[in-house]
Amino acid sequence: MPPWYASGLEFECSQCGRCCTGEPGTVFVTEEEIQGLAGETGLTPEDFRARYTRVLGARETVLGEREDGSCVLHGGARGCLVYGARPRQCVSYPFWRKVVASRERWQAEAQNCPGIGQGTLRTPAEIANFADDDGTLSTQREKKSRGGRKGPENSGG
Ligand code: SF4
Ligand code: SF4
Repeated sequence: MPPWYASGLEFECSQCGRCCTGEPGTVFVTEEEIQGLAGETGLTPEDFRARYTRVLGARETVLGEREDGSCVLHGGARGCLVYGARPRQCVSYPFWRKVVASRERWQAEAQNCPGIGQGTLRTPAEIANFADDDGTLSTQREKKSRGGRKGPENSGG
């Protein structure tokens, strides 16, 4: 059965930064992503980990947050300071599996992301590519077990 978004979905990031600031979020990072983020910031992976991440629960690593809840790598008017190496979870937003699970979820997410419903029509294949490996906790764990995969770039975050 074709997905509910068989006709595609419109999305264009307005670079508003809302998904990186405000309410605290949880951005999971893999070892591979930490290597890339460290390179982007000119730090060693160890230094990057110490300065910009924290451990969540028994074994997950997530990006740190400032006191106001914004991502520690968000540079205000400059946007994401690690855009070229931002984690898969940021690249795939808003096409997260839980967001594209239904039309209602997608429409509800538009309250958080003004880019939803705007601009470029994304194909069902493109959307499924993001959703199947969105970098959120559930797919991070799947990725570990199946070897990982990268998709096209998407949001500006
Ligand atoms: S993905 Fe959405 S919320 Fe995030 S910066 Fe782009 S338009 Fe704003
Ligand atoms: S896009 Fe950049 S600033 Fe925004 S949450 Fe991801 S890493 Fe942080």
